[in-house]
Amino acid sequence: MNGSDSLGDRELRAVLDAVALPGGGSLAASGRVTGLSVAGGRVSLSIQIAADEAQVFAPVRDQAEAALRALPGVTSVFAVLTSERPAPPKLNAATPAKADPLAGIGHVIAVASGKGGVGKSTTTVNLALALRAQGLRVGILDADIYGPSLPTLLGLHGKPGMGQGRKLKPMQAYGLQAMSMGLLVEPETAMVWRGPMVMSAITQMMADVEWGALDVLLVDMPPGTGDAQLALAQGTQLAGAVIVSTPQDLSLIDARRGIAMFRKVDVPILGIIENMAHFICPDCGSSHAIFGQGGAEAEAARLSVPFLGAVPLTMELRAASDAGQPVTARDPDGPLGRIYQQIARTMMAGLTTIPRAKSPGQP
Ligand code: ADP
Repeated sequence: MNGSDSLGDRELRAVLDAVALPGGGSLAASGRVTGLSVAGGRVSLSIQIAADEAQVFAPVRDQAEAALRALPGVTSVFAVLTSERPAPPKLNAATPAKADPLAGIGHVIAVASGKGGVGKSTTTVNLALALRAQGLRVGILDADIYGPSLPTLLGLHGKPGMGQGRKLKPMQAYGLQAMSMGLLVEPETAMVWRGPMVMSAITQMMADVEWGALDVLLVDMPPGTGDAQLALAQGTQLAGAVIVSTPQDLSLIDARRGIAMFRKVDVPILGIIENMAHFICPDCGSSHAIFGQGGAEAEAARLSVPFLGAVPLTMELRAASDAGQPVTARDPDGPLGRIYQQIARTMMAGLTTIPRAKSPGQP
């Protein structure tokens, strides 16, 4: 609990005591509520459920959120359903040459783009939140050394704390674990880094952070550079990579380069996400295909990689990112949240169907 808040644990629990469970009894008494915290009027909590209880407990979560929101002094509430099942086994379970620092994580997935500014970080954050909304334990490693935007996107402040064994503790936001280069170094410092420094920074962010047990870790990659891809692919068992691209031809060429880079290090491409695919007019709500339609989907087919979905260019997404309140955290089942959730489902389904050619370290 944050000491500066006038709201106490007792008041919050009293509210949760009035939320009834489908099978009888109160939510507070069920022992399912964990991580109840309040900071600056923002309340967050997790509700522990079994993997198959998500549908039954969605109305309970909604009720809990509404009841807490009605408390004076509460400005926002974020409740997530968490199923504490064991991390799924890795698909590419070959023995790496060195100990894998991310061995406790179900799937490590790189999110990459050929060039900057295509919305890679925005996509990473909303995709992570969509996976979280589906009950998975999710972390984001912002390895975009040249433009770390995770602190802004998630509204993170301060420095990460030190855990056991001098490892850094990831920061928490909206039910996600997060670590960013932007929390560790001044932006100007990293701008001049060259290959080897980029590689060692990424290796360190994998090995020296107490990630704990996660189902999925999304790694927001720096655009372009092959060093980062290499460091990541050598340092851990990557489940795959997702490429974010805008529909413009130029960035599709860049996207092709990104795909080639991962293929070179035998990381399966889980698919392409088309960002800013069409423009949704804030006044009339109509959709305009400013850059033409279907370019990324056709390109994905040409490259024989799955097309994961298209995200529109909207004022809401831009404003929410700048405000540090991602759309999918605010409204996971709204029109944009649903798009990210569908992309998340398609991506996760791909993990079980895409064969892995070779593992790092294999001849
Ligand atoms: P990258 O990580 O590729 O450099 P960002 O995620 O930082 O890109 O996005 C660049 C800018 O574009 C940000 O201001 C972000 O808010 C905005 N943006 C990204 N995706 C969208 C979208 N679908 N609609 C509107 N704005 C977007």
